[in-house]
Amino acid sequence: WAVSRIDEVDIEGGWKNGSPVPYAALAKAFALIEATTKRIEKTTLLTSLLLLVIRRSQKGDTKSLLQTVYLCINRLSPDYVGIELGIGESLLVKAIGESTGRSLATVKSDLKREGDLGLVAMNSKNSQKTLFKPKPLTVPFVFSNLKEIALSSGHSSQAKKVSIITKLLAACQGQEAKYIVRSLEGKLRIGNAERTVLVALAHAVVINEKEEAGKRWSSEKLAARLEEGANILKAVYSELPSYDLVIPAILEVGLDKLKEKCKLSPGVPLKPMLAKPTKAIGEVLDRCEGQKFTCEYKYDGERAQVHKLEDGSVAVFSRNSEDMSKKYPDLVEQLPNCVKDTAKTFVLDCEAVAYDVKERKLMPFQELSKRKRKDVKLEDIQVRVHLFAFDLLFLNGEPQLHKPLSERRRLLREHFQPVEGEFGFAKSSDGETTEAIQTFLDESVKDGCEGLMIKMLETESSYYEPSRRSVNWLKLKKDYLAGVGDSLDLVVVGAYYGKGKRTNVYGAFLLACYDADSEEYQTICKIGTGFSEEALQAHYNELKPLELTKVRGDIKIGGAKPDIWFEPKMVWEVLTADLSLSPIYTAAQGLVDERGISLRFPRFVRVREDKSADDATGPEQIAEMYERQSLAQTKTGKKKRGG
Ligand code: ATP
Repeated sequence: WAVSRIDEVDIEGGWKNGSPVPYAALAKAFALIEATTKRIEKTTLLTSLLLLVIRRSQKGDTKSLLQTVYLCINRLSPDYVGIELGIGESLLVKAIGESTGRSLATVKSDLKREGDLGLVAMNSKNSQKTLFKPKPLTVPFVFSNLKEIALSSGHSSQAKKVSIITKLLAACQGQEAKYIVRSLEGKLRIGNAERTVLVALAHAVVINEKEEAGKRWSSEKLAARLEEGANILKAVYSELPSYDLVIPAILEVGLDKLKEKCKLSPGVPLKPMLAKPTKAIGEVLDRCEGQKFTCEYKYDGERAQVHKLEDGSVAVFSRNSEDMSKKYPDLVEQLPNCVKDTAKTFVLDCEAVAYDVKERKLMPFQELSKRKRKDVKLEDIQVRVHLFAFDLLFLNGEPQLHKPLSERRRLLREHFQPVEGEFGFAKSSDGETTEAIQTFLDESVKDGCEGLMIKMLETESSYYEPSRRSVNWLKLKKDYLAGVGDSLDLVVVGAYYGKGKRTNVYGAFLLACYDADSEEYQTICKIGTGFSEEALQAHYNELKPLELTKVRGDIKIGGAKPDIWFEPKMVWEVLTADLSLSPIYTAAQGLVDERGISLRFPRFVRVREDKSADDATGPEQIAEMYERQSLAQTKTGKKKRGG
């Protein structure tokens, strides 16, 4: 049943074994996937496509599957390599005009009507008479051209990009132009979360292995094997998030031996473990339920995963797996001072914090965010950075993830040493009473931290869980004890014109959360108070280039009516007094109520430059916050508010 749609996904006449994968097969599968909202159906369609690719690739050809998978998730490389698409609207409008012989004005007016450049490109192509049928597009051709576009930079790059896009569009048939243009924009919008792709890939490999071995399985056995395969691949990928490494390995050794072959390795950043918010010490004690835990300072800086590779080089990665070695050359330079001779290769999980060398004290995060993101020169650095290590994920050839935190911490302290003003271990206390936690929390705030992280210390529940927001890590932030327990990271999707003094800038903004499953932004509130005039001007300057002709199709608007729509890119951290149900906004609609959830009295905290729009708070987290708030209000006798 997992491949029941294979004939639908295949293109007319199929394609010859060993020949390049036709892009038409991807476009066909994408259209079918887009047409359904059911996750199982999406997975089945994708499994069918990937199985076809595996079956028709020659032995030893790993590229066909690799490139197909990349195009399905609309990426061209692992995150840390940083080859990104995301071509601006005006460039695409120009290329669509050039390749279809239509004026810019007509393309723009179509865009205003349709709100989707992909559709505009497809319709423009399909209404154009062509004398010759173009040579069919193939996956390797599309992939390498997209890569060339993403990599071209500098002075004449705009013209070069337009020319490659024009060439690609000229060869498009059927629905291909729609997906090529959406790929170029940076979002396929078919509701194909990366998790779905991972599951489909595992399923395709399991079915292929079964067929090759000529096995006959009952449907129960097949279902069990599919689930097992998906779990293996998800676990492996969370340790080694690189299709470049994982896909050739699956094709070589299969799923059962994948864990031995693909392990966390320095140079490939893993997705960090994240914490759940709590808003009272009592809640911490309830959640820890008699298990051993530790409290650590929650430093106010930037997450830094520090890798030392076999060849002796050092790399620093951000929360989003971006290579930050060029932002923090000082970290790279000072690192050897804290490493003992016994640590040859390693991966440390740390927080990089701004540090005042003269006063010997920590500085707020904002000081670090003023740094350029790239090409920082050592001699230009004004604010020093202090590293606080809180975890050791890899040491001397061995991943350490599956050891208790107490053991990882022991190894961390054994193989590294504090260096005044440069490197230290996250300050910790294992006190277990409410009073002890309160005292430590107060101390952390006095020392310039945000609050505490509470972590399980022993047994399996303290293993490191890459990419998970886990209950085994709790955060307790001083500021939010009275509010909803945490701030939210929201995407700016629209703006309202200012009034009075504010007429030349935007006066208020429309914010949205991001649902990774449906790949859509859901509106959550309007925010307009608490901005200084300088701040409004700065936001205007940053947001103006993101203005769109029409709202994008992946924004679930509800009743919001901003004057301007933006490309969803900018992420803001926002605090709120509380959450309420709303007939206007769409965030978390259907999770706790038919209505959406909205923020009451939202307050801007800061721009989150370290987060991309896809990392914004998700609807489940918002629903969870709403439910915990309602629970707390019921306990204290306050009424639930609606409206
Ligand atoms: P936040 O806005 O709170 O940083 P987040 O979504 O980036 O949220 P969370 O899991 O919610 O991440 O909070 C953990 C973050 O706190 C980590 O990503 C890390 O950057 C920072 N941090 C500071 N000190 C510690 C510590 N001792 N242990 C773990 N994380 C810490």
